[in-house]
Amino acid sequence: MPLVVQKFGGTSVADAERIQAVADHVARTRRAGSDVVVVVSAMGKTTDELVRLAGEVSSTQPPRELDVLLSSGERISMSLLCMALADLGVEGVSFTGSQAGIVTDTEHTRAKILEVRGDRLREVLARGGVPVVAGFQGVSTARDITTLGRGGSDTTAVALAAALGADECEIYTDVTGVFSADPRVVPEAHRLARVSFEEMLEVAATGGRVLALRSVEFARNHHVPLHVRSSFTWEPGTRVDEEDPAMEQAVVTAVTHDTSEAKVTVAGVPDRPGLAALLFRALADRGVNVDMIVQNTSAHGTTDISFTVPSGDLPTSTEVAESLVGELGAAGVSSDAGVARVSLVGAGMKTHPGVTALMFETLAGAGINIEMISTSSIRISCMVRAERVDEAVRLLHAAFGLG
Ligand code: ASP
Ligand code: MG
Repeated sequence: MPLVVQKFGGTSVADAERIQAVADHVARTRRAGSDVVVVVSAMGKTTDELVRLAGEVSSTQPPRELDVLLSSGERISMSLLCMALADLGVEGVSFTGSQAGIVTDTEHTRAKILEVRGDRLREVLARGGVPVVAGFQGVSTARDITTLGRGGSDTTAVALAAALGADECEIYTDVTGVFSADPRVVPEAHRLARVSFEEMLEVAATGGRVLALRSVEFARNHHVPLHVRSSFTWEPGTRVDEEDPAMEQAVVTAVTHDTSEAKVTVAGVPDRPGLAALLFRALADRGVNVDMIVQNTSAHGTTDISFTVPSGDLPTSTEVAESLVGELGAAGVSSDAGVARVSLVGAGMKTHPGVTALMFETLAGAGINIEMISTSSIRISCMVRAERVDEAVRLLHAAFGLG
């Protein structure tokens, strides 16, 4: 019997009616002859609400207790869904992450999965039932409850699919799949029927919010095919899978954008070995995830180093950079929250020259200044002014014939 993991995000289980609709879909899938394992997120904005409450009660928020609190949202969904399944004559059996045998490291609020035991889920499947697992959580090697970081239910679903050898992992959300650009910005954006893991990784890393980046990494590493689709329309969505060597690859598959980054510039850094190392080691030690870096060629023995970080890390990053100005012998530090990134992603870029040129020409034609550039073999990103990023996305979407 085929086995499918079905993951339902917060909007898919936001209220009683939605939970019944999900139960109905799970029951149908089961009756159509598939084994089903369900993973649920917390209802609607529950997790945000719990984070807010914690903030009101405490300024220290011990991470162990925060994880106990945050993990509770998913427990509400899993038990309610099992009740709704019972009404449909399906035996749903709920499991917390811990009960499901999801073992993690001890990094509270961003734990990594080390092992998935899953024997209790197999027992339920063997007797024809449907295990319903609370997403986003596990139990640490120190036997405490952990959570996997925001958006972590996607990762739970993929990890279970890998461990149980599922044929597919379906991720149900409130959009009908992955689009060639954000449809709120580009109305003529189209749904992609299929994307490769590599492309999806780039899309997820550059602002495509449909799937959590870690879940895509996990899926690629464990060869778990994904199907991103809507629990509001139930129509087929986007399949994320191994690259198909027989298929001609689109040069550009998607245009993504991200307004959540900020730029820091350290000016007048002497051009000497070891100074960049000093700066970026200090940032790494404070847990700052640096993204793009640009260092100019030196003029008169000094250079400017600019880098981007998630906006939330801007205060820490400027603080770290400013504390090093003396040691670096730099002229000063400035920060800029008004930047945004626009990216082109496409596996066919590897073999098609001219993508970069057309991207730059398109932006130049509209007088949009490029402040930073970074590339991978299948992506080109430019930093531009935030207020022009929507326009940049629309222009590039049209210039590369994605409309
Ligand atoms: N409920 C968690 C969050 O809001 C996990 C998830 O939905 O994936 O981040
Ligand atoms: Mg999510």
